[in-house]
Amino acid sequence: MIEIIQTDITTLEIDAIVNAANTSLLGGGGVDGAVHRAAGPELLTFNKTLGGCEVGQVKLAPGFNLAADWIIHTVGPVWQGGTRGETELLRSCYINSLELAVSKSYREIAFPAISTGIYGFPIEPATNIALTAMKKYEHTFTRIIACCFSEADRGVYQALLD
Ligand code: ADP
Repeated sequence: MIEIIQTDITTLEIDAIVNAANTSLLGGGGVDGAVHRAAGPELLTFNKTLGGCEVGQVKLAPGFNLAADWIIHTVGPVWQGGTRGETELLRSCYINSLELAVSKSYREIAFPAISTGIYGFPIEPATNIALTAMKKYEHTFTRIIACCFSEADRGVYQALLD
């Protein structure tokens, strides 16, 4: 069953959290900034070896000081009105993260609301993309978590799941 929770994703004790990073993987605002602060400076040192990440793709990093064992970095699309492939790219973020987790035999994964902050993807279509992807993998994981930061986002996720 998909769990919808409202918390800081960096506090989760889980196999893997997904980070909504940017193409440099060298840190940023929002959830990315929180992940770097909580994981500690070793994350930046490690990420410098990764060579960045394309939009819609994923790169794996250890959790370092996080309670999570692993960080799956993914780069969401910047919303540009919806005609620049944003939907397909956001779907790729979710599917590629889930496939990477499956390939590593992780049993627990948590996602933030990728692209819906600084990158401006409207929350309702983004949530539908997230939940549709997560539903496909519901039975593959022991925990599959949509981690919302705001009460408003949690309400949208819950309404669209129901
Ligand atoms: P993007 O650049 O992909 O839009 P943001 O980090 O700006 O990424 O926003 C993505 C989502 O992550 C937003 O819903 C934002 O409220 C949320 N968020 C920000 N900080 C955290 C956090 N510590 N834990 C979980 N979600 C967070």
